[in-house]
This record gives sequence, C-alpha cells and structure tokens, in this order.
Amino acid sequence: MTRFNQPLGGNEMPRFAGPGTMMRLPTQPTAEGLDACFVGIPLDVGTSNRPGTRLGPRQIRQESSMIRPYNMATGAAPFDSIQVADIGDVPLNTFDLKKSVDIITEFYNGILAYPCIPLSLGGDHTMTYPILRAIAKKHGPVALIHVDAHADINDEMFGEKIAHGTPFRRAYDDGLLLNDKVFQIGLRGTGYSPEDFNWARSKGWTVIQAEECWWKSMTPVMADITAKIGDAPVYLTYDIDSLDPAFAPGTGTVEIGGLTTWQALEIIRGCAGLNLVGGDLVEVSPPFDPSGNTALIGANLLYEMLCVLPGVKRG
Ligand code: MN
Ligand code: MN
Repeated sequence: MTRFNQPLGGNEMPRFAGPGTMMRLPTQPTAEGLDACFVGIPLDVGTSNRPGTRLGPRQIRQESSMIRPYNMATGAAPFDSIQVADIGDVPLNTFDLKKSVDIITEFYNGILAYPCIPLSLGGDHTMTYPILRAIAKKHGPVALIHVDAHADINDEMFGEKIAHGTPFRRAYDDGLLLNDKVFQIGLRGTGYSPEDFNWARSKGWTVIQAEECWWKSMTPVMADITAKIGDAPVYLTYDIDSLDPAFAPGTGTVEIGGLTTWQALEIIRGCAGLNLVGGDLVEVSPPFDPSGNTALIGANLLYEMLCVLPGVKRG
C-alpha cells in the first residue's frame, strides 16, 4: 500500500472520464499535509490583447488526464515520493483586477502556511506578481527563472501599474527578487525601444533572447543558470507564449520565432537540484486553440515541474 496520493489510472477509469482535477488527483480544500499542490488561477482581466486565459486552468486539467505517473525520460516518480493534491481555484473577483491581486496573495499566504510548494495553472501573467509577494514573505527575495516571449517589465500599461505586462517590474519595485539571480529566457519580437529588454540587464538580470536559443540544446544554458543560482530559493514562471506558435497557438500575445517543446523540456528538466519554492504555467487561452494542444503542452510542463521539485525520487 502506498503512502501518497495517486493520479487515477487509465486502467481504473477511462482517460476521458473521472474527476476534472489535475491528473485526476484527489482534491482537498487546503494545503494541509501536502508537499506540493496544483492550484488554478482563472484570471484574464490583466490581459492587453486577446483574452481567454480565465478558461486556462479548467482546460489544462482536462488535457492533463492523459499524463501517466512515471517520467520515462528522467526516471522521476513524483507520486512515490511526495504528497500532492489539486486544491482547486483561487476565488477571484473577475470584475476587479486589483482586488484579485490581493485575493491571490492572501490565498498563497494560506498555502504557504504549510510546507507546501504551489504549482499554479494560469491565468494571465499578472498572477505571478501576487504569488511572488507571498513567496518572498515566506522565503525572502528569490531567484527567478522566467521563460517568456516578453519581458513583462513595463512600468505601466495604459496608465495602470497592475497588468500582465508589469509583474516583474512590480516584483523588482517591491524587492522580491535576487537581482543577480534573475534569468529571462526566450524574449523576442518587436518592441518600442531597446530599453524593453535592456532595463532588466541594467538591474543585473540575465536576458537570453530567443535567437540565442535557436537550433541549440538548452541543457548547457541551464547548467550555467543552476550553477549561478546555487542553493538560493528559486521560483519558475513559464509563459506558454515562449513557445513558437507552431506548437502553442492558444495564447493571447503571439510572437513568431519561439522555443520548441523539446527546449521547454530541457529548461524544466534542467531545474533539477534547485531549491524550487514554486512554479507556474501561464497564458494558456483555450478559445485560440480548439484542439486543446496548447493546454496539453501546459499540463505536461506542469507535470515536469512537479518532477524536479525537491524530494522527488528518480529511478
Ligand atoms: Mn508573460
Ligand atoms: Mn508572454
């Protein structure tokens, strides 16, 4: 008999049926007794272009039903190692973004009252700022691995301080980050000026533009990043639009020339051994990918994050 929660298997219940939780795991109302939890943030009122990410968590959960428990590539066996459940969604105020930001921080303060690592299903990228407020309240300033087509360091958007293009500027302003241990990977596209990426460099952050990643394995890059982060607490935030739209069209702010799914796997698997204190997968917008494949990729990347959490055994 196993000590840990197990995803409902495909030989116990058809993959297209059963509970609508992440990987068809058990659900519970709080993080009590958990080493890690999946939590949804159905937020899209912070988006600047195409909306729809409020539907992301539900579709990621649906597409996660195909994921089996054992990682054939890395040997990770998360459900033989740690206690995991899906604790549901954050009860946002969808009419008020600023109130929602405070609701998210309070919700994560509640999760982090327990020794539990949250893995969050987004939701637009605004959500990472209030999560980081809770994370830094518990752990102090953290290292950050930020995979995205965009820098998300605008001071304002349309005169607003809170939006999906400002979370890392706000995190910087609030002192939530270890500025010599911030890595932005996959940035690209058109901008307003070179400052769009150089502001971060001027703060000591490392910016790796998408063109530097083309045709290459990300494994050496991640070896360099993990060496620089060392044993500092680190948060991993993964914007699905970092991927090329050929892979992940179901998102709101598409940029061509992006990363591949195998580079995404190398990035996340390259985080093994880090002191990860949280992670998220944001910006899946189901209306723009009726196939569900963008959400399926998101679900798999969240599973890969689970596989590299501290305490997860490898076969
Ligand atoms: Mn983003
Ligand atoms: Mn983005």
